[in-house]
Amino acid sequence: MAIDPQFTENREQADTHKGHDVWGPVEEPEKLGIHGTHVAVDFDICIADGACVEDCPVDVFEWVDTPDHPESELKADPANESQCIDCMLCVDVCPVDAIDVDAGRA
Ligand code: SF4
Repeated sequence: MAIDPQFTENREQADTHKGHDVWGPVEEPEKLGIHGTHVAVDFDICIADGACVEDCPVDVFEWVDTPDHPESELKADPANESQCIDCMLCVDVCPVDAIDVDAGRA
């Protein structure tokens, strides 16, 4: 299952984390929601493959620990989403389609 590109309409903002929005539902540690808005990562899909972290030319992503999450115990957090240049590399390389980038969403 890929990230829902309509998440801002289909989900409620549940929290903020390091300056970006978190879209619920969030029920830690099993459900972590979507982090970010311009650069959005569905933490419940992310398997910590790391391609986005390695390939992003402007270092938008930082690893965060997510102990006891069923998919992976690390997530690629869009901590610096305001730096995004919309190259779409992260969207293309994510093996589980956990990332959606939309410059019109902020
Ligand atoms: S679209 Fe490009 S610049 Fe933006 S987060 Fe993804 S890899 Fe980084």
